[in-house]
Amino acid sequence: MQAPIDAYYAKRLEQTAKALVANHFESYLVADAEAAGALVLETILPQTAAKVISFGGSMTLAATGLPAALAQAPGVSIINTLDHSVSPEELYERRRQALLADLFLTGSNAVTEDGVLVNLDMIGNRACAIAFGPKHVVVIAGRNKIVPDVDAARVRIKNFAAPVNALRLSKKTPCTATAHCEDCGSPQRICNVWTIAEKCFPRGRVTVILVNQDLGF
Ligand code: SF4
Repeated sequence: MQAPIDAYYAKRLEQTAKALVANHFESYLVADAEAAGALVLETILPQTAAKVISFGGSMTLAATGLPAALAQAPGVSIINTLDHSVSPEELYERRRQALLADLFLTGSNAVTEDGVLVNLDMIGNRACAIAFGPKHVVVIAGRNKIVPDVDAARVRIKNFAAPVNALRLSKKTPCTATAHCEDCGSPQRICNVWTIAEKCFPRGRVTVILVNQDLGF
């Protein structure tokens, strides 16, 4: 009985894609993570002619296979901000340099049905890159990230996405014990920087690929 569920989400995603375009984002709708990866490699990468590419930490992005595929792309250099074999200082510097990339790819914690991107970061490098810095940004979001409005996005992020990510990263935060946000003061708190992208400026700088599949948290 997957077909009715896919058809239901296709309609909601279509409406969300229209709202994103009305808010000056580019938007595409694809069936699955593999199609999202192909869209980036075959259409968006040639359009942007990006030579320097970087990523935000994202389970959704990992599901597309894009980090590995782009590392093999000819004429492209990658600023790898996910390589934990280097020192924390080097990783921090790479995150700073990533803000000057030609193309930055990431997920989004939530996408509202009126076309707004809502994100909450520990460091801010991912959320801030959506707002400013890289020449082009691609946001890939599964259907599970769609919410009615910004208030619902905040609830989703604080009471689901953040605790699940804290568990994934084995953080010592109260939410890993209670499965609710306790608005903690923990040194390992992962909730520090909000961004709400109501509209895209310049028009078309950010492309949002909506995927009719549950991806990430
Ligand atoms: S503020 Fe603290 S308790 Fe709340 S979700 Fe973030 S890390 Fe967990």
